[in-house]
Amino acid sequence: MEVREYDRLFIGGEWTAAHSGRVIESIDPATEAVWAEVAEADEHDIDRAVAAARAAMTGPWASMPPAQRGALLLRLAELLRRDADRLAEIESRDNGKPIRDTRGEMLRAADWFTFFAGAADKIRGAEVPVGAQAHAYTRRQPVGVVGAILPWNSPISLASWKLAPALAAGNAVVLKPAELTPVSALELAKLVAEAGFPAGVVNIVPGYGGVAGAALAAHPDVDKITFTGEHRTAQKIMASAAGTLKRISFECGGKSPYLVFADADLDRALTVAVHSAFRSTGQSCSLASRVFVQRPVYEEFATRLAERAARIRVGLPLDPKTHIGPHTSAEQLAKTRSYIDYGRDAGFRLLCGGGRPDGFERGYFIEPTVFADVDNTSRLAQEEVFGPVLSVLPFDTEDDAVAMANDTRYGLVGGLWTSDVARAHRVAARIETGLVSVNTFRPILPALPYGGFKMSGIGRENGLEVLDDYTETKAVYVDLSTMEPADPFRD
Ligand code: NAD
Repeated sequence: MEVREYDRLFIGGEWTAAHSGRVIESIDPATEAVWAEVAEADEHDIDRAVAAARAAMTGPWASMPPAQRGALLLRLAELLRRDADRLAEIESRDNGKPIRDTRGEMLRAADWFTFFAGAADKIRGAEVPVGAQAHAYTRRQPVGVVGAILPWNSPISLASWKLAPALAAGNAVVLKPAELTPVSALELAKLVAEAGFPAGVVNIVPGYGGVAGAALAAHPDVDKITFTGEHRTAQKIMASAAGTLKRISFECGGKSPYLVFADADLDRALTVAVHSAFRSTGQSCSLASRVFVQRPVYEEFATRLAERAARIRVGLPLDPKTHIGPHTSAEQLAKTRSYIDYGRDAGFRLLCGGGRPDGFERGYFIEPTVFADVDNTSRLAQEEVFGPVLSVLPFDTEDDAVAMANDTRYGLVGGLWTSDVARAHRVAARIETGLVSVNTFRPILPALPYGGFKMSGIGRENGLEVLDDYTETKAVYVDLSTMEPADPFRD
C-alpha cells in the first residue's frame, strides 16, 4: 500500500518543511497500516506560524472591506463543495468514519463558510445614548491571532466551526489538527490558498498536543485559544493560557441524556435514538449515551432499541453501505472495551453487542453495545466512553427524569420526547445543557448556538453569538461640548 506524503506545513501562505524534520505517521483504522506521513510541527514552527498570523493582522487582511472577507469565505465554500468526494475519501481513510458520513460533513463544512460569509459585513457595534454632550459608540474589532486546537473525531467539521467565524470577524488563525487525523486540514489549506486568502491569515500546523498544542496555548503572541477536546486537556490549556490572560473558548465532552416519556411517539423516538447513540462509532461529544425511558414503556423500548442496534452495519469506511466504521485508534478501541468489561462486571443487563464484529481480523472494529438497568451513578453512566456503548435506564416521574438527566458533570446536549407541549417546555427549561431538543435530537446548524454548561465547555460555537467570542468590544466616547472642562484640582 502506497503511503501518502504530506511533508510540508502551511505557514504564511507557503508550504514549508517542519523544523524538526520529523513526521507523524497517520494510521488507517480499518487496516491498522500507516497510510500517510505528515510533517510534524514543533514549538519553532508554532513560533513561525504565530508570527505569520500576527503579520497578517497588519497587512491587506486588516484593511480588507468585510464584504470582501465574506467573498473569500464563499469561495472557500464553493471549493469544498467541488472537492467534497475527494476530501470525504481522505477523511474516511484518516478517521475511519463511513464515506456516507464524511461526504455529508464536507458539504456541511461548506454551509458553515457560507453562513459566516454572510455575517462578515454585519458585525456591528452600536450607538450608546449618553446625552447631547457626547457621542459614544461601540466598535467590534477582531481579537487578533487565534489558536485553534482540534480533536480527531470530526476534523473538517470542527475546523469549519472555528475557521468560519474567526475569519468572518477578521482574525488570523493558527490551526492545529489532532495528531491522529492531521490530513484533511492540510487538504483544506490547499483550498484556502486557492481561494486567495492573504498570506498568514490561515496557518495549518499538524503536531502533537504536548508539543505543538502546548506551545500554541502558551504562546505570548496568541490572543485567543479555541479548543475542542477532552476537559482534562482544556484544564491544561486554561492553565497555560492564564500566563497572558488569553481569551478561551472550550468545547469538551458530554454524557447526553435522552428522555423518552410514555406519551411520546415511540417509533420516531426509537429511530432517532439508534442513530444518535451509535453514529460515528460513538465518537461524538453529543451522543445520546444515556437513554432514560419512563417505566410503562421501558422494557419494550429497551428491547426494540437493542434489536435495531444489532442490525447496524459495521463495515469498511469506504463501503457506501457501511453505517459505522472502526474506532479511529487502537487506544480508543481499548477504552471502549474497558467500559464494556466494566458494565459486564457491574452486572448491568447486556442486551446486544460487546464484542468484535464477525469478519474483521484487522482494524479497530467493535459492535454496537446496549446495556439496560444501568445505575446512573456508575462509571458507565457518568463517564464519557466515546464509543458505541449505550446505557438504558428507567424513570418514574418527570422530576425523577430531570434529576437523573442533570446528575452529571457534563452539560452539552439533552433531548426529550413527549406529546405534551407544556411538559416539553417545562423540561427543556430544567435540563442543564447548552442545547435541548424536543422530539428530535441534537440539531446542528450554523445558525444555532452550540456549547456546554458545566464541564462541557466555556463559550459557544455557531450562531451569530459565536462572533462575540471572536471580537473585542471597544467603547469610543467623543466629547462634543464647547464648555470648559470642570477642573476638580483647581482649588
Ligand atoms: P484531546 O483533548 O485528547 O485532544 C484534542 C486536541 O488537543 C488535539 O489536537 C491534541 O493534540 C491537543 N492537545 C493535547 N494535549 C494538549 C496540551 N497539553 N496542550 C494543548 N493541546 C493539547 O481530545 P480528543 O481525544 O482528540 O477528542 C475527544 C474529546 O473531544 C472528547 O472528550 C469529545 O467529547 C470532545 N469533543 C467535543 C466536541 C464539542 O463540540 N463539545 C466535539 C468533538 C469532540
